[in-house]
Amino acid sequence: MSDAASKSELFFHKAADHLGLSARMRTLLLTPERDVKVQVAIRLDNGEIETFVGYRVQHDSARGPMKGGLRYHPQVDDAEVRTLAQLMTWKTAVVDLPYGGAKGGIAIDPRTLSRAELERLTRKFVDQIHDMVGPDTDIPAPDMGTNAQVMAWFMNQYQKHHGFQPACVTGKPLELHGCEGREEATGRGVVIVTERMFHRLGQKLAGKTVALQGFGNVGSHCANLLFERGARVVAITDQQGGVQNPAGLDIPALMPYVKEHDGVAGFPGGKPLSNEELFSAPVDVLIPAALGGQLTAETAPTVQAKYVVEAANDPTTPEADEIFLKKGITVVPDILANAGGVSVSYFEWVQNRSVVHWPLEEIRSRLETRMSSAFDAVWQIANEKQVPLRTAAYILGIGRVARATELAGVS
Ligand code: GLU
Repeated sequence: MSDAASKSELFFHKAADHLGLSARMRTLLLTPERDVKVQVAIRLDNGEIETFVGYRVQHDSARGPMKGGLRYHPQVDDAEVRTLAQLMTWKTAVVDLPYGGAKGGIAIDPRTLSRAELERLTRKFVDQIHDMVGPDTDIPAPDMGTNAQVMAWFMNQYQKHHGFQPACVTGKPLELHGCEGREEATGRGVVIVTERMFHRLGQKLAGKTVALQGFGNVGSHCANLLFERGARVVAITDQQGGVQNPAGLDIPALMPYVKEHDGVAGFPGGKPLSNEELFSAPVDVLIPAALGGQLTAETAPTVQAKYVVEAANDPTTPEADEIFLKKGITVVPDILANAGGVSVSYFEWVQNRSVVHWPLEEIRSRLETRMSSAFDAVWQIANEKQVPLRTAAYILGIGRVARATELAGVS
């Protein structure tokens, strides 16, 4: 087992101890059902052949078809995909979706490929895995480095093998059986749970200060809604640089700036800021919305925020988690905080299978209800058992999967 995989299992075992799970049940729950690595060879625009490695890990299907994103990023490897697939199993259970968990990816920086190369890569990957995915088995979706266009190519290629099957993938463009509000869903869900937490604490989100790492799909939508709901986003960093303004950044003005300049750096409405400065910013809430493994034994001691809301998957190492606990920092864990994306993916899948289309307001209100009730369930377990929110979320998620596994029976 890799170091990354064994570290992330520490969170699992803490909750499994509370649930009194046997060693055999733990092994069953931790072992992926299927773990596949495929060759994805394409012809580049210059005529050369390039070979990539594609991954799909189907972690657990006790509660339903497996669900999880498809990541195009240079850091994608066996251990990362396995960890993220497992997180999807607990995440879908925390928000009570009738799904299991999966994850896939290709080790590539998509910005180094032309659009045509990216399309060929996606179609070739589908050719390699089409017989192991599908609306009733495993449903991919966007993740880092992929988007609605990649999902459209995915669906189109899958349909060449299997006929009309729009529910084979979610996060599709609206013109191709996509769902209103899917793109904003993860960021919106993050803000819903943040607001809910303050509500539970007898406080208000409006007026709170926020530092945000990442301004991709999740981070930008998160910033937008925080601004709309009256919070002050005072610091943002992305891959190229950062920007800060203690009075609050003008998010509606920042959005077109980022489109034009491909990043937040140099935004005239603020001063430059490094990632280290972002982590140690004197704010109420820190939201990591970028890569995993950002909050570590090195960075966690510098954090001044009282609350960390994990918009990214797996942003906090177990060492950092301990440091936050000792410092009295409340962490809203990834498997709860960023579950808005997969929740709206579920709404998309339901609509595809019923051949209906729900309006945006209906999606938003269903998302608000689902995220708030998941937050309340986790909050209640945390209070009853006197455990951090992460352990509570794992207790809820793992408990549901373990019960489904026992009820179905293993012959
Ligand atoms: N990639 C997203 C996640 O990590 C969404 C997965 C999905 O919609 O299936 O939660």
